[in-house]
Amino acid sequence: MSVETITFGCRLNIYESEAMERQALDAGLAGAVIVNTCAVTAEATRQARQAIRRVAREKPDARIVVTGCAAQIDPAAFAAMPEVAQVLGNHEKMQAGSWRRLADFGIGASERVLVDDIMAVRETASHLIDGVRGHTRAFVQVQNGCDHRCTFCVIPYGRGNSRSVPAGVIVDQIRALVDNGAKEVVISGVDVTSWGRDLPGTPLFGALVKAILRHVPDLPRLRLSSIDSVEADDDLLDALANEPRLMPHLHLSLQAGDDLILKRMKRRHSRTDAIRFCWDVRRLRPDVVFGADIIAGFPTEDEAMFSRSLDLVEECGLTHLHVFPYSPRPGTPAARMPQVARPLVKERAARLREAGDAALRLHLDGERGRTRRVLTERGGIGRTEGFTPVRFPGGVAAGEIREIVVADHDGRMLVAG
Ligand code: SF4
Repeated sequence: MSVETITFGCRLNIYESEAMERQALDAGLAGAVIVNTCAVTAEATRQARQAIRRVAREKPDARIVVTGCAAQIDPAAFAAMPEVAQVLGNHEKMQAGSWRRLADFGIGASERVLVDDIMAVRETASHLIDGVRGHTRAFVQVQNGCDHRCTFCVIPYGRGNSRSVPAGVIVDQIRALVDNGAKEVVISGVDVTSWGRDLPGTPLFGALVKAILRHVPDLPRLRLSSIDSVEADDDLLDALANEPRLMPHLHLSLQAGDDLILKRMKRRHSRTDAIRFCWDVRRLRPDVVFGADIIAGFPTEDEAMFSRSLDLVEECGLTHLHVFPYSPRPGTPAARMPQVARPLVKERAARLREAGDAALRLHLDGERGRTRRVLTERGGIGRTEGFTPVRFPGGVAAGEIREIVVADHDGRMLVAG
């Protein structure tokens, strides 16, 4: 009997679920169900509660263990659910000892909640995994937590302050994954560009990227998860310009296009910084593809401010747009600011998504007839180096890097010739 994990949220959670599943199994918790929650939006927390109730209905004997950012921020809310056997904090969930302890207690134990102060955590417990089941690309955690305090964000309260995994541990992890057949590794964390600040000599993120490519020469593709453009250092830009194995795809945490809104969000970049960064990177790496996170309807945002987020799509040449309708998170400064009416938040999110769809179609049109290297995945699809999805009409085996000529697209993904 195995341990099942239900994972919400980011790649870091996916990576951690992989590690937890093994630790829980090693501790003898077969039959347990781990719900690894996310707290970025109220909707994510609601879905986790819904999943817990569903599991309890479908598997009445299963021991349900809840963890992740929503559990870290509000453990009592999950402990109050009769369906929940135990609640584990984000630090505790990565300790083998926590799972052994849970195995010893059995259901109904007094210590149902093992959640410590995440702000007191100083190290990042990295785990050597040999792959991420069901995923062709392997996510590797290089950093956890965040030192910034953007006014809309609860992540630091779920993950604590920034802490880095030493470069040597990361290189060993990636080498093990490549030896195990991984064709692509995705560098993951909460604020990866702050990697190294807490390490001796305070190395910068670009140095880590170069070290990985130097020490794992047989790694075919290295991809970055989301980055904060204002923290991109010279080595990172140099690697983008000169390292073909570093994928020409950057997902930017832009959030808005208006300077006053960026200020009220406590972001560290201006509109001009964002646009200039994209132009500079495109000059260094002409085939680069940008994705970005943008929030619609941040408190105090008026129509003129919103239009500056809307036209950022074109100004920065964004292709893969992730749109977040603003969601007030309890305890954040933004939740206390004058709110934009809900219908307007939703309407603006829809207009941003339309702009994103139009930008994606423009990108897909431009890909027709081009030759692309694609990493194939399950389900007859794959991803280009620019992270654009590709469908293989005749099906394809997962885990291969194939050179294709793009025959067409269906408005959402390319079609391989
Ligand atoms: S940088 Fe800002 S948005 Fe990102 S995790 Fe940190 S506080 Fe949240």
